[in-house]
Amino acid sequence: MLSWRQSLHANLDLERPPLMEIQVNYPLQPLNTFGVKAQAERYVRFDELAEIAPFLAGRPNAGGPRLILGGGSNLLFAKDVHGTVLHPLLKGIDVLHQDREAVLVRVMAGEAWDDWVAAAVHNGWGGIENLSLIPGSVGASAIQNIGAYGVEVKSVIDRVEAVALADGSARVFAASQCGFGYRDSHFKRRWRGRYLITAIVFKLLRRPRFNLSYAGVQAQLKQIGPPTLANIRHAVIDLRRSKLPDPAVTGNAGSFFKNPTVSRAVLNSLRNAHPELPHYAQGDDRFKLSAAWLIEQCGWKGRALGDAAVDERHALVLVNRGEASGEEILNLSRSIATSVKKRFGVALEREVRVVPNGDTCQPGTHRPR
Ligand SMILES: Cc1cc2nc3c(=O)[nH]c(=O)nc-3n(C[C@H](O)[C@H](O)[C@H](O)COP(=O)(O)OP(=O)(O)OC[C@H]3O[C@@H](n4cnc5c(N)ncnc54)[C@H](O)[C@@H]3O)c2cc1C
Repeated sequence: MLSWRQSLHANLDLERPPLMEIQVNYPLQPLNTFGVKAQAERYVRFDELAEIAPFLAGRPNAGGPRLILGGGSNLLFAKDVHGTVLHPLLKGIDVLHQDREAVLVRVMAGEAWDDWVAAAVHNGWGGIENLSLIPGSVGASAIQNIGAYGVEVKSVIDRVEAVALADGSARVFAASQCGFGYRDSHFKRRWRGRYLITAIVFKLLRRPRFNLSYAGVQAQLKQIGPPTLANIRHAVIDLRRSKLPDPAVTGNAGSFFKNPTVSRAVLNSLRNAHPELPHYAQGDDRFKLSAAWLIEQCGWKGRALGDAAVDERHALVLVNRGEASGEEILNLSRSIATSVKKRFGVALEREVRVVPNGDTCQPGTHRPR
């Protein structure tokens, strides 16, 4: 039996329960990158697309609230999960169409995100190389519109394929319908809990245009070689390894909070008191602040409450140094948000989904507009 840490980088290939069988009191510790203990009242995994619709259609209201689980790298289990955890492990990468300029590829939701990036780079398809080494599954990449080093996944999504949890019927959403924003989409808000994403169709470039907008990527490339897809992937991986704790060693879920955005008036008043405040224009007279900087200024970097701690290298990353519970990590996050609000008047919004508070919901009948 693997320990939860050994299981993390391969958690989509765990020792598995029998197909389509509902497991009760199922352990979730190996299935979340914080490595906190929790269990699911009921758990079912799907290996095939064809299994999902009959399962959902046959049980419109059974099993209580439902939580869809990917790689568990953006979730914090604050308590046991009441209801049913649905775990789609669908695999497959298929080229649907290609011409001289671009390629359309359908990638099933249960593929590991970074395996897909590696495959794209290997095939010479450009667009996601800056998103190398982000943990988790392909299906979840659309939920919060994952982003890093100047690229967001929305720029390469053509459409999202899903099934409605209410009745198992198939849905296809064009990227323009999905409400993608900074770490945001309709799947996270308006449509929360309504759909299980089964696959994403990506449009990647066969004549890549490199995004070198991050000075750090450029600096790293100087040591590696000229900009190519493989070299950019290499540079991004090096940068990420130097900055972020590896969840296989120290439990974490990456950035715990989003970077807050404020109006020009708020920015100006903050800068009167803190002239060194880092800020980034968003182009709509709003400005993004660095949540890490705000947290560090409040003295949290490296501090711990029991085994729940703020990472020593990156103040935006909360870590489980050993046996922290989900509730302890949640309490630490609340203390951090309270002190940032008190000192700067700025509210921090969580990027990580807290379960059960934020992510289980009753099956519904909502239809997208
Ligand atoms: C070390 C580290 C670094 C990270 N760096 C980044 C980064 O640079 N940029 C970034 O954007 N994120 C980053 N993250 C966060 C995380 O990797 C991403 O949000 C990722 O997309 C989560 O994928 P997952 O499969 O683990 O989703 P989970 O954590 O399992 O789930 C996240 C949410 O998606 C929902 N969900 C999952 N799969 C499906 C599906 N098939 N259908 C419908 N809903 C689904 C869940 O219900 C939940 O609401 C990082 C995390 C870690 C641990």
